[in-house]
Amino acid sequence: MNKAYKFRIYPSENQINVIENSFGCSRFVYNHFLNQRNEVYKDKKICVKYTEQQNQLPSMKKEFVWLKEVDSTSLQMSLRNLDTAFKNFFEGRADRPKFKSRRNNYKTYTSNFVNNNIDIKKDKIKFPKLKWIKAKVHRYFHGRIINGTISKTPSGKYFVSICVETEIEPLEKVTENIGLDLGLSYFATLSNGEKIENPKYLKKSLNKLTREQRKLSSKQQGSNNFHKQRVKVAKLYERVANQRIDFIHKLSKRIISENQVIVLEDLAVKNMMKNDKLAQSISDVCWHKFITMLEYKAKWCGRKLHKIDRWYPSSKTCNECDYIMEDITLHIREWKCPQCGSIHDRDINASKNILRQGLLDIA
Ligand SMILES: [Zn+2]
Repeated sequence: MNKAYKFRIYPSENQINVIENSFGCSRFVYNHFLNQRNEVYKDKKICVKYTEQQNQLPSMKKEFVWLKEVDSTSLQMSLRNLDTAFKNFFEGRADRPKFKSRRNNYKTYTSNFVNNNIDIKKDKIKFPKLKWIKAKVHRYFHGRIINGTISKTPSGKYFVSICVETEIEPLEKVTENIGLDLGLSYFATLSNGEKIENPKYLKKSLNKLTREQRKLSSKQQGSNNFHKQRVKVAKLYERVANQRIDFIHKLSKRIISENQVIVLEDLAVKNMMKNDKLAQSISDVCWHKFITMLEYKAKWCGRKLHKIDRWYPSSKTCNECDYIMEDITLHIREWKCPQCGSIHDRDINASKNILRQGLLDIA
C-alpha cells in the first residue's frame, strides 16, 4: 500500500534555483515528447510508446545540455507522467494531454528513490541535487520510500510529498456498520441518525475568498496592486483548501474507526458538476475527495467500503415497509409513508436504505 506524506520545506536561495530549474526541465521534457506524440500521430496515425521515448532521453540530453543539471530520474518521471496522461485519455478518464504552461501557478516535479537519494531527519529532508533542505517534519513513517515530489503553491510556498510503501495495519474489528447519505443541506447524514454539517469556519473563509476574488478582478492586470491581490487570493485559497482537507480527514478517520462496513452511493459527481448552481456547493463539500479518503483508509484498516448503484431510489423508499413514494422532490425534507404511516426524515431514511442495500449487495 502506498501512502504519501507531505512536508513544508524552506529551501535556500541556491536550492530554489535548482528547484525552479527542475520545474522547467520537467516541463520541457513533457512538452517535447507530447509534441512528438502529436506529430507522429498526425503523420502516421500511430502512437509513440513510452519505451521508445525513454530511449531518446540520452540523446536529448546531449542536444540540450542544461538538462544534465537536474536530477535525471525527474526527467524520466516527467515522461512517465505523460504516458499516464495518455493512458487516462485513451481509457476515457481524462481529457487529451495539454502542453504545460510556464505560467501555470502550481508547479511540481518528481524524483525517483535510488541509492538513498531521498531521506528524512528531524528538521531536514534530503533530495537529489539539493542535498539537505530545511523542513518542518511533523510526523514520521515506516516503510520503503518510492519517490518524492516537490511542489510550489501559487503563493510561493514549497512542499515535499514523499510516497512510501507501507504495511497495512488493520484495526480491530467492530460490530457497527453504517450507511452514508451525502447531501447539500448537510455534508453527510448517517444511518444512525447523526447529521454532519459543513463546518462554519469553512463557510466564513469561503465568503472571504469570494470577496477578495472579486476585488482582484477589479484591479488592472499586471499592476502592482493586482500582483499583491493575486498573492492574497492564492493564500486564502490555500487556506480554504487546507481547511476542507482537514475536515474530511478527521471525519473519514472517525467513520472508519467506528464502523466495519461503510456503504454509500456511487455518485456521479462529474455529471452533477455540469449544473452550475450545484457546482459551487459540490466543490465546497468535496465529496469526491472524501470518498477517495474513505476508500484508502478502509483498505489500510481492514474495513469494507461498498458503493451501491446510484440509481437505487434511496430517498424514495420507505425504510420500514419498502413502499416507494414516487413524487418526492429535493425540497421535501420530511414525509409520511402512506402505507405504514412512518414519518421519515428524508436524509436519515435514505442513509438507512443505503446501508440496507449495501449489506444485501455484499452478503
Ligand atoms: Zn412505509
